[in-house]
Amino acid sequence: MSAFDSLRTTLTERQQAHLYRTRRTLGQAQQPETVIDGKPMLTFCSNDYLGLANDPRVVARFQAAASTYGVGSGASHLVNGHSEEHHQLEQELAAFTGRDRALLFSTGFMANLGTIQALVDKPDAVFEDRLNHASLLDGGLHSGAKFQRYLHNDVDNLTRRLEKDQSRRRLIVTDGVFSMDGDCAPIGELVNCAQQHNAWLMVDDAHGFGCIGSKGQGLVAEHFDQNQVQVLMGTLGKAFGTSGAFIAGSETLIETLIQFARPYIYTTAIPPAVAAATRTSLQLVQTEPERRTQLNKLIQRFRQEAKALGLTLMDSPTPIQPIVLGSETETLAWSQALEAEGLLVTAIRPPTVAKGSARLRITFSTSHTDAQLDRLLDSLDKICQQRGLPNGIQL
Ligand SMILES: *Cc1c(COP(=O)(O)O)cnc(C)c1O
Repeated sequence: MSAFDSLRTTLTERQQAHLYRTRRTLGQAQQPETVIDGKPMLTFCSNDYLGLANDPRVVARFQAAASTYGVGSGASHLVNGHSEEHHQLEQELAAFTGRDRALLFSTGFMANLGTIQALVDKPDAVFEDRLNHASLLDGGLHSGAKFQRYLHNDVDNLTRRLEKDQSRRRLIVTDGVFSMDGDCAPIGELVNCAQQHNAWLMVDDAHGFGCIGSKGQGLVAEHFDQNQVQVLMGTLGKAFGTSGAFIAGSETLIETLIQFARPYIYTTAIPPAVAAATRTSLQLVQTEPERRTQLNKLIQRFRQEAKALGLTLMDSPTPIQPIVLGSETETLAWSQALEAEGLLVTAIRPPTVAKGSARLRITFSTSHTDAQLDRLLDSLDKICQQRGLPNGIQL
């Protein structure tokens, strides 16, 4: 008997269920062609949608800021870790989103946990789309508020739940672009529903920022103000190509988070150089719309040609283009077959997605070339020939 025998049993069970996760080691920068576990690989699974993670201008800004500010921020924002670069970035994010203010968090996971916990408590209720990101679900579960999940993008189902509820404060929470499906929340309908039922609306637009809208403002900021979507969350580690996250909204919201969001208060600020590099990304997101044009061209071409192969795609206009295969073993087999062709597409399995809906999560970046997309399509075609077409799982 050793101390961790019961943990070992749990690990073995996970392995037997084909749900075991392992990590791969990158030997180069985040870009489509990279070296993984020592082998050259073409990747279609990164969230670096605009190819900014290794943009020379972003890197140069990071290096310059590190020369001025050093590496570590040294403390939390409320002690003495809040630098001029953090402050400027917050103001620029507020302007970008059309909100009074924005507040930086060290990660998106912490932003979601901290925000939901700061806004609602025992006398309150949280209503979440059942396909929300884990950080939103955990934030709701741990807030102490009454917690409910409504059917995916089903505003009628949400409305019925709100009608039955008598809580003090009510918070509706949704992903903007759903991270594992790529489809979009019906923001306009949710805004109406929230207003009719005296609820607040929080949207996590982690995958919308940079990719959607004429200036990359995402699914929400271009069309809905802070009286309609009171709490807007974005991450910096996806299209912005850096790291960290933010919440944007009214003065009262941001001051509430500074006072009460524990994952904001009790953690070290991101390095000032990361904030500085993000300021450059934010500029590029707005001034180089051709990045979105190129990305959308790739997405359209992929959708057309993948459908022509007989593959069933999801209703996704975004760079997230999953192919649902259903079983864990089949999904792993496809992922391994792609890997044998030198392509990395991760197999997404429960509990990240619902049981029976395991999938390949293909993602695109502005940095992908047409020739690289050809390689993906050729390999998918070959695997369809070898393994047969997946039989159009209905979700
Ligand atoms: C990635 C992601 C997060 C977490 O952001 P991190 O900065 O990576 O912690 C939160 N919500 C959604 C929808 C995400 O996709």
